[in-house]
Amino acid sequence: MVETRTYDTTTGAGSARLDVDVVVVGAGFSGLYMLHKLRQMGFSARVLEAAGDVGGTWYWNRYPGARCDIPTTDYTYSFDPELEKAWTWSEKYATQPEILRYAQFVAERYDLRRDIDFNTRVVAARWDEAAARWRLRVDTGQDISCQFYVMASGCLSSPKTPDIPGAGRFKGPAYFTGRWPHEGVDFTGQRVAVIGTGSSGIQSIPHIAKQASQLTVFQRTPNFSIPAGNGPVRPERLAPLQADREAYRHEAKWSRAGVPNEPTQIYGRYSPPEVHRERFEAAWQSGELIPILSVFADQILFRDANAIVAGLVHEKIRAVVEDPKIADLLCPSDHPFGTKRPCLDTGYYATFNLPHVRLVDLRRNPIQSITETGIDLADESMKFDAIVYATGFDAMTGAIVSVDIEGRDGLTLKRKWANGPRTYLGLMTAGFPNLFTITGPGSPSVLSNMMVSIEQHVDWIGDCLARLRADGMTTIEPTEAAEAGWVQHVEDCANITLYPTADSWYMGANVPGKPRGFLPYVGGVDAYRGACDEAVARDYLGFKRSGPQVTRCTDGVVRRLQPDVAMVLQMMADLKLPTFDSMPAEHARALLEQLSAARPPGPSIGEIADGTLPGAAGPLQYRLYRPNTPGPHPVVVYFHGGGWVLGTHDSDDPLCRDLCQRSDTLIVSVNYRHAPEARFPAAADDGLAAVRWVAEHAAELGGIPGPLAIAGWSAGANVAAVTCQQVRDHGGPEILGQLLLTPVTDCDMTTPSYVENAEGYVLTASVMKWFWDYYADPADRPNPKASPLRATDLSNLPPALVVACEFDPLRDEGIAYAKALAAAGTPARWITARGHTHTSLTMVDVVVSGEQVRGEMAQALRGFFKVAVPA
Ligand SMILES: Cc1cc2nc3c(=O)[nH]c(=O)nc-3n(C[C@H](O)[C@H](O)[C@H](O)COP(=O)(O)OP(=O)(O)OC[C@H]3O[C@@H](n4cnc5c(N)ncnc54)[C@H](O)[C@@H]3O)c2cc1C
Repeated sequence: MVETRTYDTTTGAGSARLDVDVVVVGAGFSGLYMLHKLRQMGFSARVLEAAGDVGGTWYWNRYPGARCDIPTTDYTYSFDPELEKAWTWSEKYATQPEILRYAQFVAERYDLRRDIDFNTRVVAARWDEAAARWRLRVDTGQDISCQFYVMASGCLSSPKTPDIPGAGRFKGPAYFTGRWPHEGVDFTGQRVAVIGTGSSGIQSIPHIAKQASQLTVFQRTPNFSIPAGNGPVRPERLAPLQADREAYRHEAKWSRAGVPNEPTQIYGRYSPPEVHRERFEAAWQSGELIPILSVFADQILFRDANAIVAGLVHEKIRAVVEDPKIADLLCPSDHPFGTKRPCLDTGYYATFNLPHVRLVDLRRNPIQSITETGIDLADESMKFDAIVYATGFDAMTGAIVSVDIEGRDGLTLKRKWANGPRTYLGLMTAGFPNLFTITGPGSPSVLSNMMVSIEQHVDWIGDCLARLRADGMTTIEPTEAAEAGWVQHVEDCANITLYPTADSWYMGANVPGKPRGFLPYVGGVDAYRGACDEAVARDYLGFKRSGPQVTRCTDGVVRRLQPDVAMVLQMMADLKLPTFDSMPAEHARALLEQLSAARPPGPSIGEIADGTLPGAAGPLQYRLYRPNTPGPHPVVVYFHGGGWVLGTHDSDDPLCRDLCQRSDTLIVSVNYRHAPEARFPAAADDGLAAVRWVAEHAAELGGIPGPLAIAGWSAGANVAAVTCQQVRDHGGPEILGQLLLTPVTDCDMTTPSYVENAEGYVLTASVMKWFWDYYADPADRPNPKASPLRATDLSNLPPALVVACEFDPLRDEGIAYAKALAAAGTPARWITARGHTHTSLTMVDVVVSGEQVRGEMAQALRGFFKVAVPA
């Protein structure tokens, strides 16, 4: 395509105008590959780079000890097999000089420098709507315009100015790890202060300690670090790559973090101490981040599982650091393991055993001021010859918003992102046409092997531009709806983890005044790539594309299910299980039992006991769940799900434990009779019989005698609702409330939720029909004992909480029941669990995003009893 250079004759030499198809900001690994790709595709492109040469991160961060923390065999370009053959890394974790040499080697190999303007900082960018082009202002005064504007400006490229009083007063040399002098620094014989113990501090401190006569490390927050075990690449680590390069790289692209790694299914909270140690030790010895971040499947989900890993790291620290008080200070306790990026070190903790190295705890003894000669603490003045600031970066958004970017209708990016960045797929942001970010907020970026994420973004952007060109389109921009959906999804992903609980730079917490919010996408490189590919495959879902002749927009949200729900559905799909409606009832029961046996058991509670009670036509089994708090407790009768055909008192076990623990109530889960052996109205009759028996025996069961509450899920919620009506009509016992989780309330299978989710998520319309066919003849189905929504009188029933799920055929009938109860004067409310399916809320410890709703359910149970149970 075209590159135009126009020299302004009125102002004379040097004031050039440049018009290109694409401007790329930054000549780090992102910018270099983007330029190469654009050239290959025939676009004219210019890279603008503030630094004096290529390399980005590896150009600027020349502090002693700087290395990558992803093994270099993985932290490397993979787009060109010939390039991979031409370069061999010397160590497991290469040093900064070697990685910089690699960037230079790449620039030379593809002759990239001729299209890069170095020492050129982009200051402002404005979208010119009439011309459909970006107009850029750079600090060299050049006037540049482009159709597409790519910010490859780096996630960790904007060093944070230290927020310490008096910074700048120090008369001696002050160094910033992110802007280290090219000639290096010799600290021999000097008194040196290092402020900051993040990754750069942890990497540089052992090196500085080797030269300095005195080294004082100022620590606000300790970080977890593991020994890198650096050295030549181990043959067994290299073997799979050498055996099949393509397969290895493919696996990396579809892995969780951009490095091939088999995810574990082992839960820390459910495995014994010897397994903890064995798995931890193996990860520790690997000297790699991905294994230590995935010792257990649940370590980033639950505090108790996380504490196992954190505790074992503490043990390691204490084994190295001789002074127990210093060891204590070095053991992080203010954030769960992994919620800040753990560091890789070489001899970091042992450095604190050296007599000339001192650790100052800034939490106990904060810096009052930097002085001309050193640092004043609250209770001590210290003198230094040099100060090193290892204070980190304004991560992910810093470099982007430091350019004054103005999009459509005068909207600036700074203003749009004032409360946190909003992007679609971390690639684009609404209102800023043709502006792309590489590894931007809302993409896996800093949570991943960045090389894999960079290549994915560059490829996606390149393909997108080629497609626009082929379709005669000139602009592309995400829709507001798609962006809002993605922002929600990114937040949902973060919220099921412990990440948001830490004051980390992932959260923007290290920069005063920066809005808090989890910046990267934690759903995994694989899931993310899937979403990006899917958006393209669905005709650029969520993007509006325009050209002189045509505008196209397929609006929509690419990810609507909760991330953990989607993950479980994917796992089930991978198992290729037959559907319930494809087999006879007894086979379906066996399958359900098999699936139930494989799930986590749910929380430990005070007591679980099985018994029998008299049903309407014979004994019924029940299971009692007692909280581990002193009793007696209020009593809840619970009916399990399973379409009146499947399930037992055992099948909802984790959910009952969870409800028992959260609500502090005694739960009696009743195994009513099932169809086809006992068809309608057997389940309903057993419901009434069971509730009556429990009411009469509440005290014997260890509960509070008197009124009960009733709860149930799915067909069990149908039994619960029907039982409430029967109890009202047949003289008791008194029921204080009904908790109905995704209840069957009606036999109408034509509601919008049936239509939308007919083929959807485990409970399909066809499975539901299979259940109804087993349970009740068509003539019986409208009977209120089967379809409680059809009762002519819905007044004077116990207060109800109905929980509906967004992606459930039964959603509408659940909501309709709550509305009908309320219309009849029965106190009733409903909540709709966003992104959940019929079964997902019951998946305790698997679908963590259900926790909030399960909390609300438990709250409702407690609320039912508040009236009757004295405090
Ligand atoms: C010390 C350190 C170690 C790291 N180790 C790893 C690792 O092991 N594994 C990993 O995956 N990631 C690591 N990272 C993250 C690293 O940033 C990425 O891996 C990768 O190098 C980023 O490449 P990039 O091209 O996207 O950004 P960068 O390398 O940051 O390059 C961005 C460039 O844009 C330029 N720029 C920014 N704004 C402007 C502007 N307005 N005008 C002109 N130029 C501008 C900057 O000068 C910079 O050169 C590390 C980061 C640091 C700081």
